[in-house]
This record gives sequence, structure tokens and C-alpha cells, in this order.
Amino acid sequence: MHAFNGEKRYNTLSDSYKLRFGKKVFKVPLDGGFTCPNKDGTKGTGGCIYCSPSGSGDFTADKAMDLKTQFETIKSRMLKKWPDAYTMPYFQANTNTYAPVETLKPLFEAAQFYDDSVVGIAIATRCDALGEDVIDLLDALNKVKPVQLEIGLQTIHEKSAAFINRGHDLACFEKALKAVRQRGIEVVVHIINGLPGESEADMLKTIDHLNTLDIQGLKIHMLHVMEHTALAKYYRESPFHMLTLEEYTAITVKQIERLNPEVVIHRLSGDAPRDTLIAPKWTLKKLVVMNEIDKLLRKKDTHQGLYFNK
Ligand code: SF4
Repeated sequence: MHAFNGEKRYNTLSDSYKLRFGKKVFKVPLDGGFTCPNKDGTKGTGGCIYCSPSGSGDFTADKAMDLKTQFETIKSRMLKKWPDAYTMPYFQANTNTYAPVETLKPLFEAAQFYDDSVVGIAIATRCDALGEDVIDLLDALNKVKPVQLEIGLQTIHEKSAAFINRGHDLACFEKALKAVRQRGIEVVVHIINGLPGESEADMLKTIDHLNTLDIQGLKIHMLHVMEHTALAKYYRESPFHMLTLEEYTAITVKQIERLNPEVVIHRLSGDAPRDTLIAPKWTLKKLVVMNEIDKLLRKKDTHQGLYFNK
């Protein structure tokens, strides 16, 4: 028997929110108009090779709107589906701690109290935008309402990190993680499957390594090739093998089997806008991807953490 409730054989975000807050919580993606140290010349200029001009904020509202209006616009859309849910403003686009603390503080403090539905905030960032002063701020915010800090890693393999032009190494990630965890702030890590040159064994090693670290959540994405990115140019000039849905499913299930069962899985597929996605097209069918993963977990009669080795 697996240790998870309901249909799923892994620790889902939705179950973890329900347990923690008593009902459905949805994230409301926001674009605070930030940039990224990997784009503005501090660490690099091109950004990660797969990064779209919106900096992964393709599903936020129009960034010309102020943040509260963005929140209300997206929230009202989502309430049609979940009328009674709580919300979590989600600073998603680009690097959301990459600004002076005096700029960040009022934005985050306001977001914690946009309205009574807000149970916490989520902030996506990079390890090199987490200075002591920013961590002090996150610590203070976290004492008011929970802060879920998302830190992009993508891979533990330095060769792949160099290829995708991450602009930081694993040591930077681990240093930031340690500093943030010392303050008790919850950390969600992003990784990408299907990076060119990475084998299944490499992707599993990324999970094994994460198991040695103090993380609370994980997002797994398939690599997307999108228009207007450096990766699109590379893919057209030197096409490489993109994982098929079957391959992605098989690898992801193996990753779930190895993952620490305490870690909450926030995502097992990415979202890419239909009009700019070049490959792989199967990721557009998010429900199919989720179903395939569930089906294989059931078929193998396996679950998160089955092969977790402390
Ligand atoms: S860290 Fe994020 S926002 Fe910055 S270039 Fe990479 S993907 Fe884009």
C-alpha cells in the first residue's frame, strides 16, 4: 500500500494545501515587472536559452496593470472554477527578488493582504538574487503569512547548466538554499527533464542529489522549445532528440519513486503558450500527461519514495 490519499500516488500540491489551509488554494500568477540578473548583464545578457521574453510569465495578466488589478483579474477568472477557494498571489515572471529591498517590501506586504482569500504568497527567483537583506525581508514576511520561495535549479549537472546558460552553479543554489532554510522559509525547486545531452541516469541523479538537501517542494518540467528564444534557434540549426510523452512519463515516474516522500510535488508538467510552442507539442495536453503518469504509477504499483534512500 502506498502512503498517499485518494487517486494519486504522490504528495500533490492540492492535497497539501487542503490539509494545511482547509480547502482548495489556487495561485494567482503576477508579473511585477522585474528583470533577471541573467538577462540584464549582471550575470549574463541572453538569459537561459529556453527563457521566453516574458521570463516564464506567459500566463500572468497584462503587466501594464498594477499588481492588485492583475490579482483581481486573474482571481475572478479562476473563481468561476473554484468559487470558494483561497488564493496565493504568485510572483512568477522573471526574478522576483531582483530589486532593492525597499522596492520589494511594499509589493510583497501588500500582496499578503490583497483580500481575505490570501493565505500566503509564492515568489519565484534565482539563487543569485537572495542576498542577506532579501532573506531578512522574506523571513519577516513569512512570520506574517507563509512564503513559498521557488528557486530555479533545472539540473545538478554543471555541463548542462553551462549549455542552458543558467549563469550560476550548483554551489550558488546550495548556499542560497541553506541560508533560506536557516530562517525556516519553505523552498520549492524547479528542475527540467529532457535537457540536451542528459541521459535518464543524469535526470535521476538530479533527484538523488535533491534528496540530500532540505527542500519542501519540487516542480518538474519538460523542456520546451519556444519561439523567440535562443533554444529555438539552436533547435532549428542542430535538432536534438526531444523526449516523447512515453519517455517523459517513464523517467518522471522513476524520479517520483526515488523522491523523498515528504517533498510536495507542485508540478509534473509545464505550461507553454500554444502559439509560441515549437516542440514538443504533447506538452499542450497537460491532462493527458498527468493521466499517463498516474496510469504508469498504478500499473507499476509504485508510489513516491518507494526507492527513497535516506
Ligand atoms: S533565470 Fe528565469 S527569468 Fe532569468 S533568464 Fe533564466 S528562465 Fe529567464
